[in-house]
Amino acid sequence: MPTQHATPEWYASAVRPLWSSDVLVVGGGPAGVVAALAAARAGASVTLVERYGFLGGNSTQVLDRFCGFFTPGSDPQKVVGGIPDDVIGELFRLRAADYHMCPYSDAQLITYNPEVLKIVWERMAQDAGVSLLAHTQVIDVLRDGDRVTGVVAASRGGLVNLRAAAIIDASGDAEVAARAGVPYEGIEAGAVQALTTTFKLINVDTERARQVAPGELHAMMAAAHQRGDYDLPRHGGSASLTSTPGVIATNLTRITGVDVTDSAQLTAAEIEGRRQALEYVRFLKEQVPGYERAVLGSLNTQIGIRESRRIVGEYRLTRDDIVRRRAFDDVIARCAWPIEDHHASPDTRWERVADGEPFDIPYRCLLPQRVTGLLVAGRCLSADHDAHASVRVMAQCMAMGQAAGAAAALAAGRGILPREVPVSELQDRIRAWGALI
Ligand SMILES: Cc1cc2nc3c(=O)[nH]c(=O)nc-3n(C[C@H](O)[C@H](O)[C@H](O)COP(=O)(O)OP(=O)(O)OC[C@H]3O[C@@H](n4cnc5c(N)ncnc54)[C@H](O)[C@@H]3O)c2cc1C
Repeated sequence: MPTQHATPEWYASAVRPLWSSDVLVVGGGPAGVVAALAAARAGASVTLVERYGFLGGNSTQVLDRFCGFFTPGSDPQKVVGGIPDDVIGELFRLRAADYHMCPYSDAQLITYNPEVLKIVWERMAQDAGVSLLAHTQVIDVLRDGDRVTGVVAASRGGLVNLRAAAIIDASGDAEVAARAGVPYEGIEAGAVQALTTTFKLINVDTERARQVAPGELHAMMAAAHQRGDYDLPRHGGSASLTSTPGVIATNLTRITGVDVTDSAQLTAAEIEGRRQALEYVRFLKEQVPGYERAVLGSLNTQIGIRESRRIVGEYRLTRDDIVRRRAFDDVIARCAWPIEDHHASPDTRWERVADGEPFDIPYRCLLPQRVTGLLVAGRCLSADHDAHASVRVMAQCMAMGQAAGAAAALAAGRGILPREVPVSELQDRIRAWGALI
């Protein structure tokens, strides 16, 4: 639904103009940072705005493993390349990443140290010449007719205007698109995936903990919950080894039915997520071999949001498209990750699609309906619930960012709209960088 906002006249009088650039990226998650890197690499002046004091979004606030780089199975093929490879390469150079098999998807993952990744993201952005504006939250848009020309942001110094020739909404929650009046779906309570508060345990005897297979752990959770000894809403999820000795990273809690665009509901979800985290810690310590002396080491910076607003774009990727591997002329990224649906039940729905072969993500999924001058990248793309449950993982979000950044730079450089960018030229450009399309 379109959001009510103040008039352009009000903003012109009340808001301090800050600066303008060729490309403005809102949101410094995996999609947003790679979009900024791509636009800068293509020669654009780029501003990247992030509401927190560091970059990475879920990659550094919530997680420590990249999914989606490889096809599942015993002969993994690479699906994503280009700038995302540079990020991984830098993590390996700093000895902060490793390859792991995921027991749930049967696919290779890249685990990393998220604190090092914070530094990798910002160093790469700085080296590329991106103007970084952290501690700045975008709260509204500036429009000229149906064209989005900038945003209004709450910075440390007050409200500021940021203008650009092309704008990329990589906020995860489609904050810019929604305020600009782009139609979206998915936010209704219950229609989106569950939230998870992730946490880490330190001082775990990982040699003994790793002997407990995922299925065994899930059965122990279900039994403990059914006995009434523990309140464990989810009897699935993971407790995984990390590259740090004695440290286990978890994805166990489950909070459902939350409208994450409502501050009061999101606050309640944060509190409930932390309550659940403590209960899972109690269960692990008391019931699972290896955890007897474990201590809660850290909680995520903010609760993990898998799915909120999915914009309605020029094309909406569907379950049918991905299951049948429909080919698109305007492919800009590929994906072979299963449908991974963290629904309201205690388990998680995993469904391998297209025999694990990669399918296409078209450029039009990044182009919103009703407005111009705007692209989206990452988990707010245009897709139905099931297609989203596959393409939302981080390798694909980075690949979408790569395409969005390149397209925005092309549009800004030529004085055309993102929807007018010649797709074959965009594809040539990202292929030259290593994109696997
Ligand atoms: C619990 C959980 C577990 C997951 N597990 C995995 C996994 O193991 N591997 C994997 O690959 N993927 C995993 N995912 C999925 C993946 O993390 C996300 O889909 C991905 O991070 C989305 O990237 P993004 O850049 O689109 O959005 P996000 O990562 O959500 O980043 C959005 C960024 O925009 C910023 N922002 C938002 N609004 C504003 C605003 N108004 N102004 C300024 N900045 C703003 C945010 O602070 C954030 O930095 C998981 C997700 C969750 C929640």
